Amino acid sequence: MAGWLSGYVAAVTGGASGIGRSIVERYLEEGASTVVVLDRDAERLAELQAACPDRLVTLQGDVREAASHEAMVAAALKHGGRLDVLVGNAGVFDFNRPLRSYTPNRLNATLEEIIAVNVRGYLLSAMASADALATSRGSMIFTCSIAGFHAGCAGTLYTISKHAVVGLVRQLALELAPQVRVNGVGPGGTLTDLRGTAALGHAERSIGIHLEETARTIAGSTPLGFAQEPRDHAGLYVLLASRENARAITGEVLMSDGGVGVRGV
Ligand code: NAD
Repeated sequence: MAGWLSGYVAAVTGGASGIGRSIVERYLEEGASTVVVLDRDAERLAELQAACPDRLVTLQGDVREAASHEAMVAAALKHGGRLDVLVGNAGVFDFNRPLRSYTPNRLNATLEEIIAVNVRGYLLSAMASADALATSRGSMIFTCSIAGFHAGCAGTLYTISKHAVVGLVRQLALELAPQVRVNGVGPGGTLTDLRGTAALGHAERSIGIHLEETARTIAGSTPLGFAQEPRDHAGLYVLLASRENARAITGEVLMSDGGVGVRGV
């Protein structure tokens, strides 16, 4: 199949929903031969598998556990024979919670959960995939956020976690060069089902609950004037994965935020 990622083998965490699902669909459209998806949501994985029966391998697991990432990479090697791109994307949100609203115990538990999913999950992905990507001269792409660069887009803990992702991208880009390129994509507010933490009792709370209101808020605070959909970001993940089109790009986080960052929020 022709496309920018013709014959590529990819692994995507958090690929059952939102931005991750758009990346998976777009990679398949661009000709990827195998896409492995790791996600905790069995129901959505089954839906995705039904919608994309060919060239897709789904795995239920938790990105906080090294074994889930090892299984994801093993599945890519087993079904695709190689791994060309790892997308670390699974994440949880803090619903803009300010520091002073926490008790110390709640802060500890929420910090532990947000860092474990949003940062440790990416580190474990990188560890599990580095050798396979060095062999293929492939790349890693991590979903960062406008909150990775600016204050005022989220609460303190989520903002810390996404700033950490910027450091992870830059440091790993140096550590893994010249074999593996490492980059990020920084979406602005996007209409997805992004959830909160179990520590705050928000595991089922979604930023999309009041979709129309969320869409209006995002559109109203964004220079380009519209609320982004997951698919609006997928092209950057294609570009960054492509050896032909992004051979010289590493250590960068490309923004996809409707211009919010230009204004500094
Ligand atoms: P989403 O909830 O639609 O997708 C996230 C996926 O990650 C879900 O399928 C979920 O089941 C999975 N997941 C969460 N925790 C997991 C865990 N412990 N183990 C395995 N899978 C897990 O939300 P989304 O908005 O598409 O989020 C994707 C990424 O985009 C996240 O890193 C998020 O921080 C980032 N992001 C989102 C926005 C936004 O406004 N939606 C903006 C900037 C960045």
